[in-house]
Amino acid sequence: MIGQRIAEVREQIRLHCEKAGRNPSEVTLIAVSKTKPVSMIEEALAAGQTVFGENKVQEMCEKHEILKDKPIQWHLIGHLQSNKVKKAVAVAEMIHSVDSVSLAEEINKQAAKIDKVQDILLEINVAEEESKFGITVDSAEETVRAISGLKNIRLRGFMTVAPYTEDPETNRPYFRRLAQLMVDINAQNIDNIHVDILSMGMSGDYGVAVEEGATYIRVGTYLFGERNYNI
Ligand SMILES: *Cc1c(COP(=O)(O)O)cnc(C)c1O
Repeated sequence: MIGQRIAEVREQIRLHCEKAGRNPSEVTLIAVSKTKPVSMIEEALAAGQTVFGENKVQEMCEKHEILKDKPIQWHLIGHLQSNKVKKAVAVAEMIHSVDSVSLAEEINKQAAKIDKVQDILLEINVAEEESKFGITVDSAEETVRAISGLKNIRLRGFMTVAPYTEDPETNRPYFRRLAQLMVDINAQNIDNIHVDILSMGMSGDYGVAVEEGATYIRVGTYLFGERNYNI
């Protein structure tokens, strides 16, 4: 069942890449396993899925502990508080949700302690929704400059959580805006900064995100079913 869903998403990635003239190998599927049991992760793993996204540090670390002999890459995609940075840095391959200079500084500090260079993305609230985390597109350059000197983080690109929608086309302009931001930031030739990752698109809109240049798509519900937060 999960294996079938993964195969379907991979086929959709291929089709949307073809439409956009992209190479499907540029797109990594992140299976968002938050709230879902380890057994489901193992099922996905058996189908060849190795990159998983979690939005809580505690849950990511618990699952990592159980599955630590498996070839899994953990991505932290949810909001990160500074008191949890140490644990996050110990496990996460990539942190998608960096939304302030002070958080980046804390990640840098904790990564230095374990001799790690932590890959991060800046979370951008492209649609400027009040309910969402992330910095604005307009403040991105200033933030990038402010963190560009930190030696134990490596800024790889940008992440956005687009508005909830029934019609993925309504999110296309936001995805396009994030792709443009990447071009603009690279054009600034800021020391130590070259970005090439765009984390955008979820179950409802990843096809459009791929057409607009997503290199990571974060898919949960479509692979693992609806989440129940009450259990
Ligand atoms: C839960 C979550 C997803 C996955 O969303 P689905 O709609 O279930 O595919 C993607 N990104 C973030 C940041 C999330 O918190």
